[in-house]
Amino acid sequence: MAGVSAGYTQWRIGLARPDVGEEEIEAVSRVLRTPILTNGPETAGFEREFADLHRAEHGVAFANGTVALVALFAALGIGPGDEVIVPSLTFVSSATSIVYAGATPVFADVDPDTFNLDPADVARRMSPRVKGILAVHYGGQPADLAELSALAADAGVVLLEDAAEAHGARYRGRHVGTWGVAGMFSFTPTKNITTGEGGMVLTGDGDLARQLRLLRNHGQVSPYEHAVLGCNWRLSEMQAAMGRAQTAKLDAILARKRTLAAHLDRRLDPVAGVQAPVVRDDRDHVHMLYTVTLASADAARRDAVINDLAQQGIESRVYFPPVHRQPIFRGQPADVPVTDDLAGRILSLPIHSLLTPEDMADVAAALAAAMDRTAASPTTATTATTAPTW
Ligand SMILES: *Cc1c(COP(=O)(O)O)cnc(C)c1O
Repeated sequence: MAGVSAGYTQWRIGLARPDVGEEEIEAVSRVLRTPILTNGPETAGFEREFADLHRAEHGVAFANGTVALVALFAALGIGPGDEVIVPSLTFVSSATSIVYAGATPVFADVDPDTFNLDPADVARRMSPRVKGILAVHYGGQPADLAELSALAADAGVVLLEDAAEAHGARYRGRHVGTWGVAGMFSFTPTKNITTGEGGMVLTGDGDLARQLRLLRNHGQVSPYEHAVLGCNWRLSEMQAAMGRAQTAKLDAILARKRTLAAHLDRRLDPVAGVQAPVVRDDRDHVHMLYTVTLASADAARRDAVINDLAQQGIESRVYFPPVHRQPIFRGQPADVPVTDDLAGRILSLPIHSLLTPEDMADVAAALAAAMDRTAASPTTATTATTAPTW
């Protein structure tokens, strides 16, 4: 880890931090000593190794997770006139990728404990226009994949997984990314493993994998013959080499984060008004995020708590201000009361593999102090600088 500690000085304990060391530096250097900087053996190796880790048949690497989703919808023929059911409590590109493909996102509500799609609400949103369900594994906990698979099969639509936050997670023993027709992963720096920018689609469908490779490379079927409308969505060989080094570390990173999450769980247990993450016992949570929920009575001071933590040098943030409230989606009806309620009560705390159990004790103590102080003066919320603007 030596020599890569620049930055991050503004927070005593920051939310996320890439776990990058000599292995990644060596991997990128190895590529730079060759003439092949894109579309080569590192990309193929990264795809094979990441797919193997998830027991998936095919992996197709992309420049980032967002374009991987756009390509996936295009490859599946999901476009104008079609709808895809998606949660609103997610990163914006779960939904904007649907719009980019020409289709329409339909926001469904989430389970108040796990923040994952509520299958009963998904069932209510089904219509002949719906062509797919995009299940997001919020913060690293797999969604209700058995129920959603059954729903998709009954309706004759595809189940897709936005596993951007859930590398290596399993549901009933089987990896995310292999339950749906395909699953997307992201390697942006806040995720559990990173390539700076990067994405991957896993699928068991060979035809779909071929189509994705075509779309990623300008729809080129032979040199300068372009059969379908594609784009340049390739990952560079330097990024792929870094991805291989990161994939080799994934299990260790997840083990570390599991330990840290257990520490936080224990330390937060006695803190009144704070609910630690709820993990269903048939799946594992890989803790890309550690999101707590404040009691309804404490919702009004959530932003004051975030501010108080900031003053203690602890970074915390709302993941995510709901997508349906974003300016680009204003005007689109979204009846998602659980999402709207949670959006005012959640905050995510620091958790990354370079932190220690002592840091977790520090975070928990800081949150307990913030809860105490903001109970005494809830009006500090009006001076919040980190408050969401909606
Ligand atoms: C990070 C993320 C994405 C986007 O991935 P990028 O690689 O940043 O394009 C999509 N969906 C979710 C849920 C994410 O967390």
